[in-house]
Amino acid sequence: MTAFRNSPVGLKHPAPARWDSTPYLLFFALFTSFSLRAETFRLPTSNRAIFEKGGEEKFFVGTTGKPWTSGTFGCVRSGGFQMHEGLDIRCLQRDKRGEPIDSVAATADGTVAYINAKPSLSNYGNYILLRHKIDGLEIISLYAHLSKIRDGLKRGQTIKAGEVIGTMGRTSNTHEGISKERAHVHFELDVFVNDRFSAWYKKTSPGSLNDHGDWNGHNLIAIDPQKILREQNRLGEKFSLLALLRNEKELCRVLVRDTNFPWLKRYPQLIRANPKAEKEGAVGYEVAVDFNGFAFEWIPRAASEIKSKSKIQLLSVNDADEKKNPARKFVVQRKGRWELSARGLALFDLLTF
Ligand SMILES: [Zn+2]
Repeated sequence: MTAFRNSPVGLKHPAPARWDSTPYLLFFALFTSFSLRAETFRLPTSNRAIFEKGGEEKFFVGTTGKPWTSGTFGCVRSGGFQMHEGLDIRCLQRDKRGEPIDSVAATADGTVAYINAKPSLSNYGNYILLRHKIDGLEIISLYAHLSKIRDGLKRGQTIKAGEVIGTMGRTSNTHEGISKERAHVHFELDVFVNDRFSAWYKKTSPGSLNDHGDWNGHNLIAIDPQKILREQNRLGEKFSLLALLRNEKELCRVLVRDTNFPWLKRYPQLIRANPKAEKEGAVGYEVAVDFNGFAFEWIPRAASEIKSKSKIQLLSVNDADEKKNPARKFVVQRKGRWELSARGLALFDLLTF
């Protein structure tokens, strides 16, 4: 079925002039629309073991000497204190020298947002970013450590779901590199924070190089592709990315005294209704973020609902979630009280810049 979906049936073998292709085309159209609805995101390689019972070992590549769980998304490295923002998907095909040759394909319809073809500039090596619109949300997919980027691939180019964009490899600028045995594609799904990132970075890190401009990793916040793929597989055409993201687990809740910043225009679907603010006028937003800094809920607040005068105020912290996911440290405890850390403050500064 997958092969059928991926191949442009009917284009390679045009029908004779008098052959009535209508019923076939109708079937194809119905089948295609069904399959597109049922599968918002596709796996980027032919490795589908994630959907097999106990298939994790065959799907994920762990870090050297560590179990497969260290190749999943989350606080899965260095005893939970190091975050891994994507899925490390195991290689299935190798050449005679044992090098990975799996094709890497687009997870959904979209456009090419950014290409890094200088492996020395990133621990992700050669990588591609694609931009998608899913349930009205701008989602970025990332494919890293590629040996090869498809010839002629350019920024702005339209890409179809399942279209090959490169070849799996093990490029990276880290000292230790990636061994043949651990060959994988690092697959990531992100939200884009702020199209004024470059200006923000210049302000907050004067003199620092910003090789990737607005595509700097600090301007992308990763969401869990495993959770998304599994939920999509479970729910079929009932799957909604928006519904899933709106139900993220809350790490903390922050009040921001500001109403004009790019995030609100880019992700308006995440704004909740508040009749009081609609009536009196909003002067700020109450924001819920998950452990990785994804701001999944925004509630407009009226002046009469805000006591504090400060621009950014921490309202609450989910202690259990912070203990479970300790890598990012957006909030810290000082003298028994929770505070936003410097990293937490930077996150909200960038979100609202
Ligand atoms: Zn990775």
